[in-house]
Amino acid sequence: MITPSSTGSASDVFTMPIRFMPGVGPKRAEVFKRLGLTTVADLLYHIPRRYEDRSRFIPIAAGVPGLPQTFRGVVAGTGVFRSKRGTLVFQLTVKDASGALQALWFNQPYLRTWFTLGQELILYGRPERVGRKLQLYVPDFEVVTHDEQDSLHMGRIVPIYPATSGLHQRALRALVKFAVDRYAAALPDPLPPAVRERYALLPLAQAVAEVHFPTSEAQRRQAEERLGFDELFLFQVAVAQKRHRFKTTTGLAHQVNGPLIQSLERTLPFTLTNSQRKALTEILADLAVPRPMHRLLHGDVGSGKTVVAAVAACAALQSGCQVAVMAPTEILAEQHAATLTALLAPIGITPALLVGRLSPEQRQPVLAGLAAGQVPLVIGTHALLQAGVTFHRLGLIVIDEQHKFGVTQRAALRAKGASPDVLVMTATPIPRTLALTVYGDLDVSALTELPPGRQPVTTVRVGPDHRRETYALLAQAMDQGRQCYVVCPRIGPADATPRGQLDLFEPPADDLKAATTVFEHFRDRVFSRHRVGLLHGRLADDEKERVMRAFTTGDIQLLVATQVIEVGIDVPNAAIMLIEQADRFGLAQLHQLRGRVGRGTHESLCVLMSDPATPEATARLDTLVATHDGFAIAEQDLKLRGPGEVFGKRQSGDPELRFTALLADPRWLDRARAEAFALVAADPALAQPAHRLLRPALDRLLHRPAAV
Ligand code: ADP
Ligand code: MG
Repeated sequence: MITPSSTGSASDVFTMPIRFMPGVGPKRAEVFKRLGLTTVADLLYHIPRRYEDRSRFIPIAAGVPGLPQTFRGVVAGTGVFRSKRGTLVFQLTVKDASGALQALWFNQPYLRTWFTLGQELILYGRPERVGRKLQLYVPDFEVVTHDEQDSLHMGRIVPIYPATSGLHQRALRALVKFAVDRYAAALPDPLPPAVRERYALLPLAQAVAEVHFPTSEAQRRQAEERLGFDELFLFQVAVAQKRHRFKTTTGLAHQVNGPLIQSLERTLPFTLTNSQRKALTEILADLAVPRPMHRLLHGDVGSGKTVVAAVAACAALQSGCQVAVMAPTEILAEQHAATLTALLAPIGITPALLVGRLSPEQRQPVLAGLAAGQVPLVIGTHALLQAGVTFHRLGLIVIDEQHKFGVTQRAALRAKGASPDVLVMTATPIPRTLALTVYGDLDVSALTELPPGRQPVTTVRVGPDHRRETYALLAQAMDQGRQCYVVCPRIGPADATPRGQLDLFEPPADDLKAATTVFEHFRDRVFSRHRVGLLHGRLADDEKERVMRAFTTGDIQLLVATQVIEVGIDVPNAAIMLIEQADRFGLAQLHQLRGRVGRGTHESLCVLMSDPATPEATARLDTLVATHDGFAIAEQDLKLRGPGEVFGKRQSGDPELRFTALLADPRWLDRARAEAFALVAADPALAQPAHRLLRPALDRLLHRPAAV
């Protein structure tokens, strides 16, 4: 290994282009770039997707169906044939001393030219037993070439990198090896030595070497521990700094005992729950002191967050400040506007609405009113973030359904005031791990109880053979005066966007139930006696609004919709929800959808209709049948689908963890958080010599492109 002194200064690693490494020409550099890799450091941190232990192979005859395994053998035959359903199948027979297996690929007949008889192969996949034979569908494979680099690709634990179209695993592996040998030692280690020693973490260079080319499984795990700790720790340093900034910035001190709050409490149509009171005590305490509040209000669907926000708004309003409420969709913004108007109009406050669809003539007076301070409270979407929106004295920001907005958008709205207070509300229960990373800079208040009189929603999972009975239930409920939702996974038949990964065995996505088709079928045939409506994201805005209003007033009895109704729609008379192809939705999303019923005092039902599904899908849906605990559901969802899917597309400025293994053990997060907070408390500016490398490391972490 070459020592740092002979490889130049540390920063070289972060700027040196991959393109100057041996064997990488401009063309290959382009391929790397597509993978998000431009510098040597990118390569060092290009973490394997999985590993293969090639120090020993399972004899083919001992292969276990259903489990992912690695086999080694020689090509003993190839062939191309057409399946009964017309698919072109390429078949490869691979033998070892114990037996033979068949590897199959579909619609890729050119693969025939890639293999020759007697060629040595490594195959990775999940075999299935077909008759007496073992078959591997579309396995990963690597040709064994027996060259001088064999020791890198064989006889050891070997890294397999994320998809590398145009780049072979072997070539990539060799290049990473070169980078590790030559440059890993030059990586600056930002972790203060005292912290590293406290948890007996590997030195950085060793961890990087072991994560690519593990000398043992135990070493690999330790490497992951070290690199994972770095990430958690750095994120927590960023979080701690942010909190430190909020806690030391001067903000507005609001009047929390004024007349407006008293009037609101007098005119409220219900008494607040204990949870709501407790949250309000915390929020009002924040508002009373001259520091910007930065608080998350966290409560399951229907727990009553809106009224809490309304009381907080009154504190700001009676102190002469303006309030902005931001929601992720127009439907939700309009719903909030209606709710807040109902609560606040009786005490003399008229909220304004600012959404994208307003005409210039409608928008102008709102903008002028906000700038001059005549509009006290505005509710809107992203439209609030536009440059033309200025406030006279913005004192409180309420952001609903926070996970749909990024950190950057939060900051953009904050910048429209002088250190305004911020209340973030979310109905998506946030698992602890994310609460400490993505939301770690916020104080948290939680609504842990539902308002009294709510009936828990009964949830059932049924197959299409129960369709007739389900329709009968819907009809009966409507005849008793109730309303219903039917939710479909997509809008119309022309919309062929596949959801998720399209598998070779999965039929094209046109078997998805389309809201428009179901709507017509229901309106004209199944429920021709009832008033049926349609709502989806592609309707014109005035049409959306018309439909929503008609459903709210009861003119529409049955609303066929897509997941647009996921957030915020509040119609207490709606008592039954039928979700078509429920297995196509995420768990948290289903829980959210289910929250649209059971909002009144009527007995409510949620029917999860799904085709005969895989045992996994069935188990997933049964989670929902068994529990109403949004936290348990979110944790489960997170485990099954990962944070990216659950929380939607990552917004720029949002952190992203590459090493998630440590999250399984909450102690690591606690340690990282405690160390980071202690460090920032002692040295908020990260100015001490031992902390000198933290700032550049943080900048790199927070500004790195999304992983591919
Ligand atoms: P979410 O937390 O999902 O945003 P909402 O604020 O929309 O919940 O409240 C759900 C419903 O509960 C609304 O109809 C609201 O008027 C009602 N509500 C809120 N708080 C109470 C309460 N303390 N007692 C009775 N009903 C309440
Ligand atoms: Mg709400």
